Amino acid sequence: MFKAQKRFIAGAVCPKCSEMDKLVMYKNEDGKETRECVACSYSDIMKEELPESATNELTTRVTPEGKVVRDDGEQALKIFESPPRTTKH
Ligand SMILES: [Zn+2]
Repeated sequence: MFKAQKRFIAGAVCPKCSEMDKLVMYKNEDGKETRECVACSYSDIMKEELPESATNELTTRVTPEGKVVRDDGEQALKIFESPPRTTKH
């Protein structure tokens, strides 16, 4: 039976629930480094080729609003919904 030795990653923040010190790291059956969150059961298999900076770049790109700012997007923002006409006599 496969038994993984899990160890906590100090100062690591879960990308899913943003809890700190809830991530454990262990090697799975394939010998791959796996991250797992004990708070929300998030799990992620680490790729050895992937540098730390690449993952950081991905997280910084995600905005809370999830908006993508583009040139044509700016134009779309300028189009306002015309209010319903109230014709009173
Ligand atoms: Zn989590």
